[in-house]
Amino acid sequence: MLNNLIYVRGHPDDYNEWFQNKEGYNYAKDVLTYFERLEISPSNAGGSVYVDDLPYKTELPKILLKAVKDLGFSMIDNMNTAKQGFGVPKINIINGRRWTTASHFIHSKPWNVLFRTNALADQVRFHANFEAYGVEFLYSGNRYLAKHQKNYPSAGVINTPTILMRSGVGPRKHLKEVGNSSKSRSASWRKFAGSHHYWL
Ligand SMILES: Cc1cc2nc3c(=O)[nH]c(=O)nc-3n(C[C@H](O)[C@H](O)[C@H](O)COP(=O)(O)OP(=O)(O)OC[C@H]3O[C@@H](n4cnc5c(N)ncnc54)[C@H](O)[C@@H]3O)c2cc1C
Repeated sequence: MLNNLIYVRGHPDDYNEWFQNKEGYNYAKDVLTYFERLEISPSNAGGSVYVDDLPYKTELPKILLKAVKDLGFSMIDNMNTAKQGFGVPKINIINGRRWTTASHFIHSKPWNVLFRTNALADQVRFHANFEAYGVEFLYSGNRYLAKHQKNYPSAGVINTPTILMRSGVGPRKHLKEVGNSSKSRSASWRKFAGSHHYWL
């Protein structure tokens, strides 16, 4: 199935493999707990994402599932525990509509969040010691600066690094090529990436 708001936690073995060299970490304690807090369920009304079964199925998945079963592949009920096989995934949906963490924040209207649509984040601004102090954004034809010590860029897989590179953060060679080397921070990138938070 493609393009259907599929929700899968990922296999515990994969997380535990990533934790191999991290003493004291394990899937049950450091990952599963957070999934359980995140997912809204009868025992967790305070979660933030709905995870449910597909509200309707066409004939196509039934035919495909029968075909793979006839070919001898294993069928799976729970995508979070099976390693291989075919089955029907859970999805992020409520009353037939997509539900995301963003939906949760918008619906719960937290008092300390300001939503600004049609605003275009341009770059993160830094002090001379590379500490971020805000985000410059364009809104309604004007340029603004949202000052904050913690900034989390989440502009997607292409635009997030683009914004960072416009801010002078990235591979020095490439920044030079695009003429943004004057404030290049590539040398301190590792330290910087590990010790700062961004939000756009
Ligand atoms: C066809 C397709 C099907 C998929 N199906 C699934 C699925 O079933 N299940 C699943 O888990 N994942 C699925 N994914 C992957 C999933 O959509 C992404 O992993 C997820 O959306 C990434 O979230 P994000 O918040 O990092 O980025 P995005 O969802 O890309 O959000 C980035 C946001 O930033 C905004 N933005 C960009 N630049 C700026 C800027 N300069 N200033 C301000 N805002 C900006 C964009 O408009 C966008 O709204 C699918 C992806 C595709 C393409």
